[in-house]
Amino acid sequence: MGAPLDRSATWPYEEGEPGRFSYARTEHPTGVACEEALGALDGGHALLFPSGMGAVTTVVLTMLRPGGTIALAAGAYYGHRVLFDHLAPWGVNVVEFDQTGPPPDESDLILVEAPANPLLTMPNLEAAAAHRAPVICDATVSTPLRLRPLEHGCDVALHSATKILAGHDDVLAGVTVTRDPELRERLHTMRRLAGIVAPADTAWLVRRGLETLEVRLARQEATARVLVERLVEHPAVEAVRYPGLSFLISFDVRDGDAATRVERGVRSIENATSLGGTRTKLEARHRWEGDRIPTGLIRLSVGLEDPDDVWADLAQSLGSA
Ligand code: PLP
Repeated sequence: MGAPLDRSATWPYEEGEPGRFSYARTEHPTGVACEEALGALDGGHALLFPSGMGAVTTVVLTMLRPGGTIALAAGAYYGHRVLFDHLAPWGVNVVEFDQTGPPPDESDLILVEAPANPLLTMPNLEAAAAHRAPVICDATVSTPLRLRPLEHGCDVALHSATKILAGHDDVLAGVTVTRDPELRERLHTMRRLAGIVAPADTAWLVRRGLETLEVRLARQEATARVLVERLVEHPAVEAVRYPGLSFLISFDVRDGDAATRVERGVRSIENATSLGGTRTKLEARHRWEGDRIPTGLIRLSVGLEDPDDVWADLAQSLGSA
């Protein structure tokens, strides 16, 4: 039985005083039920946000001072970089670094990604945790079932729950998980004051997604392994990146034109953005990310379909590359 969906924005006071729930911007019961499930998975206290970007924005506003520098893993989700550049007028500086080694000395906040989307490097969490600055680990692609960043000394585990946690491409959501109660309180205060609050429907869908996370991830990961083995043998494929876990692969065809032909050639695989849903999707990333990635890079998010069916479609579209 799932937690009930309560869309109320306010609840009556008890004996003339606000009770546990009084106004939904502070907390609501469907959100709290979802946060309890997310916190148990990651081994900490979870806060839910209306998107992954809402979560990272709240982290930056809470944990960085004007003039501070964020060290961002090179090849990590490009939206992080775009956001931090956009925040430059508020005194946010950003440097990119190779997350397989230690972060730069001047970092005031460190954002690593496990694995980086779409270059799929894994961070050196021990080197990051040894730095004096707090460490945020975006573990969207690993999920807490494959990596629990708080157990490796990170201060915040961050997820776009839009992806495999919710898992069905029908909701936007984000999560932070922390162990330090004071940090959780500061994040919660910023979320409440700024109103970066996930609605009850969002919380309900994320929580329902968690019920099947383990079986979805196992199936998507098993199919990803099969596809990696076949992709490395395909003559049109010049490089394959796979971190050894989870559902996300990136591979290179010759150039941007070849990548466009693959995008246009798929039939059952969706040519769409995002990742972690039940349906296999692919997308050439160069249109968004420009020169930070190879022109022929295609990101493949493996879904729940039969592996042979996915491969048959991929192989026929690669035939046109
Ligand atoms: N982190 C990663 C690794 C992502 O891939 C994304 C979105 O693609 C985000 C964060 C941002 O999440 P959202 O789209 O839910 O705001």
